[in-house]
Amino acid sequence: MGRLEDLVNLVAKSAEGVEFSTFQIGTRVAEDLKEREEALWRKYSLEAPEPIGREINREVGRMFSEITGKEFSRERPEVVFILDVELFGVERVISPLFIKGRYRKLERGIPQTRWPHRECGGRGCEKCNYTGKQYPTSVEEIIGEVMKEASQATNYKLHGMGREDVDALMLGRGRPFVMELSSPLRRNLDLRALEKEINRRAEGVVEVEELQYACREDVRRFKEVRGHKTYRVRIRSLGGELDEEKLKKVLSLLPSSPIRQRTPERVRHRRADRVRVRRVYKAALEELEGSEATITFVAEGGLYIKELVHGDGGGTTPSLSSELGVPLEVLQLDVLDVAEESPKEG
Ligand SMILES: [Zn+2]
Repeated sequence: MGRLEDLVNLVAKSAEGVEFSTFQIGTRVAEDLKEREEALWRKYSLEAPEPIGREINREVGRMFSEITGKEFSRERPEVVFILDVELFGVERVISPLFIKGRYRKLERGIPQTRWPHRECGGRGCEKCNYTGKQYPTSVEEIIGEVMKEASQATNYKLHGMGREDVDALMLGRGRPFVMELSSPLRRNLDLRALEKEINRRAEGVVEVEELQYACREDVRRFKEVRGHKTYRVRIRSLGGELDEEKLKKVLSLLPSSPIRQRTPERVRHRRADRVRVRRVYKAALEELEGSEATITFVAEGGLYIKELVHGDGGGTTPSLSSELGVPLEVLQLDVLDVAEESPKEG
């Protein structure tokens, strides 16, 4: 019993400085102790005895809960204390904190997540000025650093509902994301103040809104949701002036045919090479001047828009280029909306 109290004190000491309301206790029992225990069971022919580890967990958990008012939780503990009975130590494992929201990216040349320098793989070299980075910052870092500071986490990871290109803006309502903060010492945050602080420090490059607490299931859901996206694309014909009537006709017909798309050449080094079929829900001409035009597309999530325009050397069919019969290039691509809800047909 005295040793149990000592263990509770160890747990209390280990919990110092950590904000949490739920916990769980686990025990690491040395092999020889387990063997002795099993020998005892056999000797006294005990039926279905309770393993010693589980009994210690329950007792220490109960006593710790009584002293601190923290709640024991088997399903989703914020902290797990692992007792080592032999060495008489406690290991503390803090569960990640998840915060979700939406972000807008108002400046080009910023990747969604940290991007290690291609040439040195992130180790740092002369060419990247020993930063190890391909780009000076990312949406992940702009939001994550402020959240890391506020929660006193050790690290962070941004899970976006899809991603935009480095050179694309993310406008409209913004893109849903979940930030995963590792081993946070603080979890009761003033999310409105946090939102303000992120936006203040991001200086109009990135904006966040609708911050709220999330859970690991949100991360999974965000990866599964396909939804639909609205893009604004500025294109240029490499075959002279564009014909307005023809362009309008081609755009109006795009939604009626499924787009067969091979993994684009530019991402084939990091993604499996396969063919997928996606839909364009709407395509409209916004502006046309000579060989340049601005078009908005509403498309199924996962459709590569640049390839839809230029055709990717036949990898995407039909494409705007194949239907118009002229080579096209994308000058600018922005995301106007990312919708979580299922797409509407037509
Ligand atoms: Zn480098």
